[in-house]
Amino acid sequence: GYDDSRGDYYLTKHDHVGYRYEILSLLGKGSFGQVVKCYDHKTKSNVALKIIRNKKRFEKQGAVEVKVLERLKMEDADDSHSIVHMVDSFLFRGHLCITFELLGMNLYEWLKAGGFRGVHLGVIKSFTVQMLHCLDLLSRSRIVHCDLKPENILLQDPSVTHPSRVDGNAPNAVNNAMSGDTVGYRIKVIDFGSSCFEDEKIYTYVQSRFYRSPEVILGISYNASIDMWSLGCILTELYTGYPLFPGENETEQLACIMELKGLPPVTLLDRSTRRKNFFDGPHPRIVPNSKGKKRRPDSKSLSSVLRADPLFVDFVNKCLEWDPVKRMRPSDALLHEWITGRRSERSELWSERWGYDKPTTTTTTTTTTTTTTLS
Ligand code: ATP
Ligand code: MG
Ligand code: MG
Repeated sequence: GYDDSRGDYYLTKHDHVGYRYEILSLLGKGSFGQVVKCYDHKTKSNVALKIIRNKKRFEKQGAVEVKVLERLKMEDADDSHSIVHMVDSFLFRGHLCITFELLGMNLYEWLKAGGFRGVHLGVIKSFTVQMLHCLDLLSRSRIVHCDLKPENILLQDPSVTHPSRVDGNAPNAVNNAMSGDTVGYRIKVIDFGSSCFEDEKIYTYVQSRFYRSPEVILGISYNASIDMWSLGCILTELYTGYPLFPGENETEQLACIMELKGLPPVTLLDRSTRRKNFFDGPHPRIVPNSKGKKRRPDSKSLSSVLRADPLFVDFVNKCLEWDPVKRMRPSDALLHEWITGRRSERSELWSERWGYDKPTTTTTTTTTTTTTTLS
């Protein structure tokens, strides 16, 4: 039902937003507002209209979303970076409104429609390349998305309303995604509603919990590399169908990460402003979750969770690097052997990373043996 206290615009079908947009149906609802499918009487085509809640905090962040989208539209003039394009933005009855090209279903809905059985690695690789082009542009533009998750990645084709229509006649076309037919799987990153410029950060605590990077959890300053962490989480979820780190709260979130990656390096802990929330002295506080499960550091490995191509495991592992300085950058990732199919020479060079100098300890091995060492 409609809850007036949220500050959502009350929607009625065939109502007009301005003279230009006619409301057709609800596409999605998020924390910032509602997204509706509209007919644009000016261009005579369908668009997606995001109507932001008319509450101060959301208005302010909505203005940042428009600013980031304007910048990205300029940087991505040839529309080659898998980033949603804004059409227009305006105020309507006190609500900030943004119109976008109409896209298809989001990757969470898509996984769900496939019964959470996961997606074939070939499709995931195609998504990864597209995501990396987006993240590379973002990091070059010093923009942090801050909310990468399957709900914020959309299939491009709006006519795909159900996976069985991904490929015309298959009875269950998710199976085509499972069997690696990558044709037509184009995606776009949406929702810059939590984004910021690296030097104009508003919030210290960002990202949706399952996809939240360790530096954000630990209260350390962050940059565009937090999006690479989220990407690692998303890729494993696409493969297995389920979130990699499904923490019920932030304590369990860190426990999930430690279960796989062991304790955080002291270099991070020393800089943590929130260390006391998670550690009694040097020891992690182990709290059972609602199912009574206690997560022990280092008790899981990524290769056993994924049981996939070791090159994919290695790739994900390099996204899920504790230390943001050592985490793989999008430009490195595009040269990773899993992506290129050949050993890279450049990935051995630790040139400038995320705007920092060369880290003191680096792993330069690109062979698959690194996949089993989870430090
Ligand atoms: P969040 O709670 O993640 O911050 P939000 O309120 O910022 O969400 P969006 O993520 O921008 O809102 O949009 C909410 C949902 O609406 C998306 O997950 C998606 O399913 C749908 N949606 C958004 N933009 C489009 C689009 N251009 N085309 C089709 N559907 C869209
Ligand atoms: Mg969203
Ligand atoms: Mg949002």
